[in-house]
Amino acid sequence: MQIREPNQLFNFEKYPTLEKDIDLKQRAWIEVKGKAIETNVSQLRSKLSKNCQFMAVVKADGYGHDAKLVSEYAIKGGASQLGVATLKEGIRLRSAGVKKPILILGNIYTKKDLIISFKNDLMPTISSIRECLICNNIGKHFGLKFSLHLKVDTGMSRLGFECTKFVQQFKKIQSFDNISIEGIYSHLSSADELNSLDPKSTSQLQRKRFEGLLKQINSYRNKNIKIHLANSAGMLLDEKFHFDMVRVGLSMYGYNPLVTIDENLSLKPALFLKVKVAFIRIIDKGVSVSYGAKFVSSRKTKLAVLSIGYADGVPRNLSGKIKVIHNNKFYPQVGSITMDQMMVDITGSNEIKIGTTMILLGSDGDKMISPVSWAKESNTIPWEILCSFKNRLPRVQVD
Ligand SMILES: *Cc1c(COP(=O)(O)O)cnc(C)c1O
Repeated sequence: MQIREPNQLFNFEKYPTLEKDIDLKQRAWIEVKGKAIETNVSQLRSKLSKNCQFMAVVKADGYGHDAKLVSEYAIKGGASQLGVATLKEGIRLRSAGVKKPILILGNIYTKKDLIISFKNDLMPTISSIRECLICNNIGKHFGLKFSLHLKVDTGMSRLGFECTKFVQQFKKIQSFDNISIEGIYSHLSSADELNSLDPKSTSQLQRKRFEGLLKQINSYRNKNIKIHLANSAGMLLDEKFHFDMVRVGLSMYGYNPLVTIDENLSLKPALFLKVKVAFIRIIDKGVSVSYGAKFVSSRKTKLAVLSIGYADGVPRNLSGKIKVIHNNKFYPQVGSITMDQMMVDITGSNEIKIGTTMILLGSDGDKMISPVSWAKESNTIPWEILCSFKNRLPRVQVD
């Protein structure tokens, strides 16, 4: 990278002025390795039986990675369906030319939104007879069948038909002529817990409840209906959770949701968070750094000011708890993380200059920092870390 010299001559007229002319890597950005998504998906798929499909969950803009990019590579890796959370997320993928079946995992409950969903060939998740009736009316109006998935609540108490009433309601739904039930599913509440293989665990209870319902409708239900239950953790837990399809998010992005690690699985993180050094200063011993003056130097200290802060999605409560990588070396972050910037102690380094790129998440040489460790430090889960990154960070595809 070229740093402007004070005495250099410029043809100022030639320099651009628009937002689109700004270098994507001018400040801080997210690099997404499409190939990592592709290999993660094909690796995970190799754990499934031949007839079990892989739904790539790309909600929340593909867990912050860029849903369109993730979808493209997940499909290359063998995903046959996509899962989004909202109507808008689904429409965006359709506009980007994605042709695979898309399931909206959130609830669509107005006639208007269900019509939009139908017209975009997006399958809604249905949790009540009321929603079924609206879909059936829409299908009837267009002289077609409205494809959808039915959801049953087996222990989340979030969306889904009530477990105890489902069998009876399913019989009624079977008589609706203008809907096509493409799937029946439920969602695990605790698959990432340590005890999930214990027969008395919440996950096993949910699976048994789900299987109990399926048994009661199996003799008369259409056999093309896809049965699905597992998220990433459920999928990795035991093949008893696989059924006809798995809905995988976190592990496709390269992180293991389980405490125990499967040795045969080498998932690769697809996301790198990188930042430029915007300024360098040297402070004496006993000088405070950042808001609240919480960090005071214990020696003469060289600081790099990085152009990233909590307004980009780096949790402020990670202040003083994280490290940054450059050239296979760790450097500690010091002082409070501010809205747009943070400071790093680079004492002893001569290679870090203004304009140098440093890595906040990802790897370099044998050094690696994962959102999983950020999550632990900030008392949250990796899912929240990944979808906290703001649009201020450009997403740049690398392979
Ligand atoms: C988000 C979500 C998933 C994916 O969960 P991961 O733990 O990230 O694999 C699966 N199913 C539903 C209903 C979801 O909302």
